[in-house]
Amino acid sequence: MKQHPAKASYDILGAGPAGLCLAIQLRRAFPQARLRVIEQNSPDATFGFGVVFSDGALDFLGRDDPELLRLITPEMERWQDMMLDHPDRSLVIDGIGFAAIGRLRLLTLLQTRARQLDIEIFYNQRLENLAQLDGDLLVGADGINSLVRLSDPAGFESQTGQFSNRFAWFGVAMGFPQLTQTFRQIERGGQRLSLNAHHYRYAETGGAAHSTFIVETDAASFAALDLEAMDEAASARLCAEIFAETLEGRPLLTNKSNWRRFPRLWCNKWVSGHKVLIGDAAHAAHFSVGSGTRLAFEDAIALTKSLQDADTLADGLEHFQQTRPPVAAKIVAAADKSASWYDQFDQHLKLSPLAFAEAYITRSGRVDRQRLAAFSPKFAAQIEMR
Ligand SMILES: Cc1cc2nc3c(=O)[nH]c(=O)nc-3n(C[C@H](O)[C@H](O)[C@H](O)COP(=O)(O)OP(=O)(O)OC[C@H]3O[C@@H](n4cnc5c(N)ncnc54)[C@H](O)[C@@H]3O)c2cc1C
Repeated sequence: MKQHPAKASYDILGAGPAGLCLAIQLRRAFPQARLRVIEQNSPDATFGFGVVFSDGALDFLGRDDPELLRLITPEMERWQDMMLDHPDRSLVIDGIGFAAIGRLRLLTLLQTRARQLDIEIFYNQRLENLAQLDGDLLVGADGINSLVRLSDPAGFESQTGQFSNRFAWFGVAMGFPQLTQTFRQIERGGQRLSLNAHHYRYAETGGAAHSTFIVETDAASFAALDLEAMDEAASARLCAEIFAETLEGRPLLTNKSNWRRFPRLWCNKWVSGHKVLIGDAAHAAHFSVGSGTRLAFEDAIALTKSLQDADTLADGLEHFQQTRPPVAAKIVAAADKSASWYDQFDQHLKLSPLAFAEAYITRSGRVDRQRLAAFSPKFAAQIEMR
């Protein structure tokens, strides 16, 4: 670990947003370093559909890596307001700016940039054992089930768990005007069941509009609908039936759209010996705050900066450990609060639409009345007049 970062060799496991962003950053910072990225999938494979970035996330990116922001901006769908579709009434919350891009499109843009920089990426190589890697630094950018993390849980002091709701990540060939949360309650066998869809467009090319459509439900509703027993196609059909009005009768598209519970994950240590974790390998941020990809980029940028300012790998890693996790922890804590709110959304639906919307917008604990009035004046005025 005494090597100078500019002369070290780097093995990066995973060519998702974290791994590709890091490879690009490192190549620019250290043109002479040996760098390779190993990825189990082919370049055109991915899970899910589009991802969103908040305006705040894009501001960070613009400051830290304007080139990356310039690369992805022309490909993004954008909107300024969001819609909460409560079963009794729809409400617009102004000033909640988001931008979205297809996950595969994002990866393709990063891959192109990596190729232009002559970065070696080895696709279709699933690593089962870290002994095959001999780089001075081994970066675990290998996602939520990280082999690098699982190989050393004590070293990374990982804490894991799960939220209780079930979700499946679908898509649909239509464009919604803005990011919308559609809450539905249906009766089945005398039981009231609650479901929510998080949906937003991420592509509108040549009229071929596409949107993400994540369906989420509580454990009791999941069991009552017997979703566990259904295959991907059957559960997509059932969800399309339940949300038929929102989908205007269109089918839901699938892409590894299996039902899951969102994981809780936080590592106290992101560095253990010559191994370092970034992105989902180190932490999980619930999709409702749209920050997982942003955190992956920011981790990669922060790691590169720490190494650039250091004389040895050890010093750079120590600086990264001291400075980056405390910043990420704030976003992960807000995301955890948001996920806990969703775990109880059937209870929140007992509130009036306006009270429900206020509970929604303040759910992560980062927005008070004053802040709300500043970024969302029209919605805040409705709350004040209640
Ligand atoms: C339903 C859902 C919706 C989401 N929506 C958003 C959103 O709107 N906005 C947002 O910012 N984030 C969102 N996220 C989170 C976002 O997808 C992740 O935070 C982001 O992909 C993390 O990037 P990563 O590179 O750390 O991990 P990943 O994207 O998971 O990439 C890890 C890579 O490592 C590879 N890999 C793993 N193990 C091995 C191995 N042993 N050998 C070789 N390769 C390996 C994998 O194939 C993968 O390509 C969402 C997540 C979910 C589940």
